[in-house]
Amino acid sequence: MQENWHENLLTWFRAKKRPLPWRLEKSTYRVWISEVMSQQTTLAFLIPKFNTFVAELPNVQALANASEETMRRLWSGLGYYARARNLQKGARVICDQWNGDFPHSYEAWRTIPGCGPYTSSVIASVCFNEKVACVDGNVTRAVSRLLALSEDVWSLKGQKQISDFVSKQILKVETPGDFNEAMMELGATVCTKQKPSCESCPLTTQCEAFRRNCVSQFPPVKPRKAFVEEALCTLVFKDAESYFLGRRKKGFLEGTVGFPVLRQQDFKKWANNYDLHKLPSYKVTTVENRFRHTITNHKITAEVILIEGDYHSNIKLIESLLTEPHPIEKDLENALSTSFDKKAWATLCTRVSNQSLFSLEP
Ligand code: SF4
Repeated sequence: MQENWHENLLTWFRAKKRPLPWRLEKSTYRVWISEVMSQQTTLAFLIPKFNTFVAELPNVQALANASEETMRRLWSGLGYYARARNLQKGARVICDQWNGDFPHSYEAWRTIPGCGPYTSSVIASVCFNEKVACVDGNVTRAVSRLLALSEDVWSLKGQKQISDFVSKQILKVETPGDFNEAMMELGATVCTKQKPSCESCPLTTQCEAFRRNCVSQFPPVKPRKAFVEEALCTLVFKDAESYFLGRRKKGFLEGTVGFPVLRQQDFKKWANNYDLHKLPSYKVTTVENRFRHTITNHKITAEVILIEGDYHSNIKLIESLLTEPHPIEKDLENALSTSFDKKAWATLCTRVSNQSLFSLEP
């Protein structure tokens, strides 16, 4: 590759970079929040969520002190609520152990809860100019084309090749943060997965796949994992005033907060174990409609079972499936943080479409 390709890339980046809120008003706090929030979501959804989040929690102290209810509301729709929990844990560590000052190095950021190698490298390079490589999916794709790598770039060996390449290049530039951002931006906006815009790429003269006229062959397609079908039950516990949520124990979505979930074949065993059908004044209703949900390689069909009764005298039913169970008296939808739970709630709502579920008598 020609020696001046970094300059071509950086010139293009400075002229064409998207005006993202964490770029227009740059701070370590905003870069950190944007990186954690942006995982597994689209930019169009992320930007308003980010703006609301930093308007309400404008600094690390505010984040450390935010209530669970605030965090849930601000994170609603982003999914994977464990990330929000870790983000707040990280804020508390920065306040308690770093006196509220942000760490300056990659190694130090790696000690902050929720900061893996990628997030730490972005913050260290973009905010503190450290020469450390950032390799995300966009960079992986662009490098695989630039070098026409035949390796499976998603394998450990392939990722090491990509990371070694970027690490070597970053030593040659004065502004590693801009270089990393430029590589990510190139992959996100020009060297895209479908139909890369080679005609507007600043690196055509360096790109091996372009030179060979075989861009579509890179990165090599990785074999798809076979889907596994799962049949689940979502249990919605309700007493006279409230619905109950909590942290799920074992199994599907373990550790996340929502309705308890059991495999369909385990539900009967669980119900017999607690003599559910013999409990006086308990009502168990299976909602006729089922919903579908896909997560990684699992295709799920789930039914919703509404269990109404007096939980203050029988909390062990809920505690057998959830830790930290808590009643929700209103705005349940806003308290749900996963799309799975939102679908379960929507399915339950179809059963009583024209009245508030909170007004139902058990
Ligand atoms: Fe990607 Fe095309 Fe640029 Fe090569 S020339 S890096 S394939 S956009």
